[in-house]
Amino acid sequence: MEYPDNIDDWREAGKLAAKALQFGLKQIKPGAMLVDVAESVEQKILSMGGDMAFPTQISCNSIAAHFCPEHDDNAVFEDQVVSLDVGVHVNGAIGDNARTVDLSRKHAQLVKASEDALDNAIKIVKAGISIGEIGRAIQDSITAYGFSPINNLGGHGLDIYNIHCKPTIPNYDTGDSTTLTAGQIIAIEPFATDGAGMIYESDRATIFAMVQKKPVRNMFTRQVMAEVDKYKGLPFTTRWLMKKFPAIKVNFALKEMLNLGIIKDYPPLPEKNKGIVSQAEHTIIITDDGCEILTISD
Ligand code: MN
Ligand code: MN
Repeated sequence: MEYPDNIDDWREAGKLAAKALQFGLKQIKPGAMLVDVAESVEQKILSMGGDMAFPTQISCNSIAAHFCPEHDDNAVFEDQVVSLDVGVHVNGAIGDNARTVDLSRKHAQLVKASEDALDNAIKIVKAGISIGEIGRAIQDSITAYGFSPINNLGGHGLDIYNIHCKPTIPNYDTGDSTTLTAGQIIAIEPFATDGAGMIYESDRATIFAMVQKKPVRNMFTRQVMAEVDKYKGLPFTTRWLMKKFPAIKVNFALKEMLNLGIIKDYPPLPEKNKGIVSQAEHTIIITDDGCEILTISD
């Protein structure tokens, strides 16, 4: 097989993402503030020489993904089921990984279901496997515990400065016969729930990404857009912008950029029946006879 020319960047991004995730997981304890954990994970990423591929996501209980605390969020960890999703990029090559911590001590099996599903998917993945087969392995692992996979969330391909590209890696058997090829880089991310197995988009997003730069007249919006442009299309969060601009400026500019179609928003994704959700994720590169897990530290 042929590795991409920049395989060293992908391995480095994966290693730093794994280290940052481990670092963050240790801080998820009752009494700690969500925003402090997000900040310290991101400081850790920068101190190791990486950069954020997306804002640190800390999704609790029935929120499956895309929750990122704001700068003035005073929520603390108590007894939630907490999914921490961390992304690092090195020259645009991305490591994307996640784990769930059960502070409630009531959902150990749910956490194990998504971890097992990830392990079992990784065991069978290799060049030539179909996307449907991976989905089936995930589905079978999760239903064996009596839980449901979340059907409208899944893994994805990764490319330079592109966090989500084809193919979608489903968390159930879609029957998709598309096969994976050696050298392809994907994230596999099973979500398990005791709810309906579906998420919906809520409101009040704190995560955004630029989709298209356009001329704007307003000076505030122009300034914020210039800052946002530095993320090269990767997702960013309001908390980062609040460090550079007053809140009123940021809120105005985000609203205008959304209206103009310059950015898109990623609102939190709650489970349809308020089921508790667990998630486990690795970024891997497909090889002829298996895969190499990239989000692993040594
Ligand atoms: Mn992720
Ligand atoms: Mn992902």
